Amino acid sequence: MQFVDLNAQLSAIRQQIDARIAKVLNHGQFIMGPEVYELEQQLADYVGVKHCVTCANGTDALQIALMSSEIGANDIVLTTAFSFIATAEVIPAVGATPYFVDVDPETFNLCPNKLEAAIADIARHGLGTPKAVIVVDLFGLPANYTELNKICKKYNLILIEDAAQSFGATLGTRKCGSFGEIATTSFFPAKPLGCFGDGGALFTDSLEIADIARSIRIHGKGANKYDNKRLGLNSRLDTMQAAILLEKLLLIDSERARRHYLAQQYHTNLKGLISCPSFPNEADPSWAAYTITIADSSRDPLCEHLSSQGIPTAIYYKTPLHLQMAMKAHTVSRGRLTIAESLSKSVISLPIHAYLEEASVAKICEQIEVFMQDKDTL
Ligand SMILES: *Cc1c(COP(=O)(O)O)cnc(C)c1O
Repeated sequence: MQFVDLNAQLSAIRQQIDARIAKVLNHGQFIMGPEVYELEQQLADYVGVKHCVTCANGTDALQIALMSSEIGANDIVLTTAFSFIATAEVIPAVGATPYFVDVDPETFNLCPNKLEAAIADIARHGLGTPKAVIVVDLFGLPANYTELNKICKKYNLILIEDAAQSFGATLGTRKCGSFGEIATTSFFPAKPLGCFGDGGALFTDSLEIADIARSIRIHGKGANKYDNKRLGLNSRLDTMQAAILLEKLLLIDSERARRHYLAQQYHTNLKGLISCPSFPNEADPSWAAYTITIADSSRDPLCEHLSSQGIPTAIYYKTPLHLQMAMKAHTVSRGRLTIAESLSKSVISLPIHAYLEEASVAKICEQIEVFMQDKDTL
């Protein structure tokens, strides 16, 4: 059993992928070839925004989003305390200061009430000027954009959606990747839409921002890359990866539906036994991860038990961002973020991918049940 089975997916579409790669080898435009532009059009249409700008990875997409919004020194960027380091590390990378906000215990996403409290705390202590909020759709569950948008409007903050884990998810009638002034995603192989290497993209309805992002990804180019209008990066998506993504994009909805079905199977079997992820009515998550929680003291023993039965698990994330050593010197948030801290000790992500057998889900649930029963009789 695999945690995410990329080989099964490749086997299913091997001929189409080979044909796409052969086409790139034949035309030879490895940098900014036609597939890159074709993909950007298709991604923008899929997400339902005007512009998509691809780049080298999801971390660069976030950094380019901050740079395009002219966020830098003396600016505070608020973000969730419970995410992958990439969400936060881009903030000091542009000279700005991260302020970490605690999450909602049900959804694991940035909590709107705590966001508003954080903004008040920043003002009360004169910590700086809040300019933007990076919101993550953790594990593929869309964040509470209705409330978050209201707060961002009220305090004049730029909302950046980190949709690295939520590509393909919807909230109401809108797709993830469409909720911020700028949204970003990652095409790291294990993400809901993954390539065979690194890749990323940003999404926006603003032509101005899209044009700046297109300049930044090619060394801040003006008329060409030897005419440099602004500081930039070298952050293009390879033509080869774009060609692969064009083929994989065709699978996105069926694969998401399959993961949703498996998530329901987990839910039915585990409900009442262990704390399961929430299933909000208005959201169709992408199920980048299926993450349960269990008391601290039982977390490692459960992982070990599952591993002894050939069941892989993962811990996303063992350390909340405000406690990461790399962040300590950079952040101005103070005090404890109790929900993020407690989640980091109690989460376990179970295998979920479109090629996982129902029988495997049944086996995993059975073994969790065995563990829970034995645990109580110890
Ligand atoms: C994966 C991920 C990123 C970064 O993507 P890369 O393509 O690996 O740079 C950013 N944010 C979140 C929440 C992620 O899960």
